[in-house]
Amino acid sequence: MSRLLEINNISVNYGGIQALKDINLVVNAGEVVTLIGSNGAGKSTTLRAISRLVNITNGDILYEGRNINRRQPHEVVKLGIAHSPEGRRILARQTVLSNLELGAYIRSNQAEVKADIKHQFEIFPRLAERRQQLAGTLSGGEQQMLAIARALMSRPKLLLLDEPSLGLAPAIVREIFTIIQNLRSTGVTILLVEQNANLALENADRGYVLEAGSITLSGKASDLLKNEQVRKAYLG
Ligand code: ATP
Repeated sequence: MSRLLEINNISVNYGGIQALKDINLVVNAGEVVTLIGSNGAGKSTTLRAISRLVNITNGDILYEGRNINRRQPHEVVKLGIAHSPEGRRILARQTVLSNLELGAYIRSNQAEVKADIKHQFEIFPRLAERRQQLAGTLSGGEQQMLAIARALMSRPKLLLLDEPSLGLAPAIVREIFTIIQNLRSTGVTILLVEQNANLALENADRGYVLEAGSITLSGKASDLLKNEQVRKAYLG
């Protein structure tokens, strides 16, 4: 398996608070890897560091073997990394369609963009029906779908997904995880941040446990599901 992403010893500080302490993590091409942990453990910060939305104080982020420490967020998107952030951050006053077009802002071939929007509407039929609706009037689950579809509009090799299940009803969560599995089968590699550890581990190949800014455990998702420590802390 080839390494798509390799994080070596990175740390992130917010003012005086050290949010990440010497994190190491690998994502191989084709994998679904999950990062689990409690509130405030640093999961979102890890994704933000990869997207270059926060600065790292030490360490290296390698993508396809290249160091991306000093890249700008839009350059990272161009290299093939897309981020679907927590809280979704869609443009509420724009239509579903404009949000998707925005996701393709780095691309210049408009015919291809059009074809990709059509493809997203096949993956997410709920969005197709609502293409002219203002994104802010979508349900929580539909907004989550839009956030994922928007991220896919940059044709990423690596999709960073932050808390796709947050605040959603179980049926919608199942729908979203089916879509995640389908994406994976089309070759998209996924780094998934989730508070719902059970769901995340059931859908991942490997997992990392983050506690107070440090990775405390890692391994095959099926082993972590059985791990006593993980069960106690995260699986109830
Ligand atoms: P959650 O699921 O609650 O979002 P998380 O594991 O994703 O948790 P992070 O959002 O990465 O955690 O936050 C890690 C730590 O960094 C927390 O202590 C948080 O308060 C702090 N933090 C995050 N963003 C900022 C910021 N912009 N400024 C200051 N501190 C921050």
